[in-house]
Amino acid sequence: MKQHGFRSGDLAGDLVIDRWWQQGVSLMAGATRREFLKALAATGAGVMLPGSGLLAQTARPSARANPRRIDVHHHMQPPEYLRRRTQQTTNRNWTPAKSVEDMDKNGTATAILSVTTPGVWFGDPQEARALARIVNEYGAQANRDHPGRFGFFAVLPMPDPEGSLREIEYAFDVLKADGVGLFTSYQDKWLGDPVFAPAFAELNRRRAVVFVHVTVPNCCQNLFPGHSGFRAEVDYDTTRTVESLFMSGALAKFPDIRFIFVHSGGTLPVMAGRINDRIPRDRRDLAPLGVLGEVKKFYYEVAHATYAMPLAALTKLVPMSQILFGTDYPVEPFETTTLPLAEYGFSARDLQAIDRGNAERLFPRLKA
Ligand SMILES: [Zn+2]
Repeated sequence: MKQHGFRSGDLAGDLVIDRWWQQGVSLMAGATRREFLKALAATGAGVMLPGSGLLAQTARPSARANPRRIDVHHHMQPPEYLRRRTQQTTNRNWTPAKSVEDMDKNGTATAILSVTTPGVWFGDPQEARALARIVNEYGAQANRDHPGRFGFFAVLPMPDPEGSLREIEYAFDVLKADGVGLFTSYQDKWLGDPVFAPAFAELNRRRAVVFVHVTVPNCCQNLFPGHSGFRAEVDYDTTRTVESLFMSGALAKFPDIRFIFVHSGGTLPVMAGRINDRIPRDRRDLAPLGVLGEVKKFYYEVAHATYAMPLAALTKLVPMSQILFGTDYPVEPFETTTLPLAEYGFSARDLQAIDRGNAERLFPRLKA
């Protein structure tokens, strides 16, 4: 396989091999991917697929060899933020340089940084404002230190409305943030709560991208022995916050916000039909485009949710234009997203849209 420059085990190689396998199945009926790989190694692809044209077509240039992905779900862990929150137990060895190293190994050109749960709110508004500023300055600096490799979603000191408005202004006007990163809930207040409305009005005015990261709501922790909020609860919280956005009229009032929901929308894609049936059709004050129309407007990133089941639900719900690549790195390794994504069966064109094209439309500054 060396002669082609692709190896099993590195991502670019795996993607090309996957494509060969998919297209070679007709030539090796019944072969598993492992058997196919073995045959490829033993005989050399050129021998196995003589003159089929397929090999030349797929191996050649490899539009897939470096998909130059844009990862919209990629976490930063600024040291000063971790130091101040000593209970943080996430990976302390993360650095932007480590991200770049792993991005390079995994065909990723740019990552939009954000902080993961618990964010910056620990009950004291002054502390939240200070932490938000530390994180946001760090995100902007990472981009300056590694031009083109990073963007960032500014964290806001929610649910402090004053502080959030101030940070929106600073993050967009001074730091040139790519959007803001919110959580699905704060202290059992979901995003339709009136406390968020001033910030949403300002974000709507700016036609901002709002990346909505999951968290475990206070209501639903330790529900039974062995319960972990990070197993399934977080994915329910996406649906809760979307219901809250509907029922508060926020989607009608703030139609220009570009929302991104994580992990292929969590439970939302499978529940959207039932929610649609539970909101009367004539409530245009809640859902101007109808529930399904509003939900199709959202963007969804696919981190750690590229298994066949969530992707089947998501792709039935929304057009391909709404799906974005994300990884949840370093919480999740790249491969938990990239390997199932490569095996799902998307066309090369759809994969390009997910990897990069859709994000370029959302973040025109990243257009290559
Ligand atoms: Zn995450």
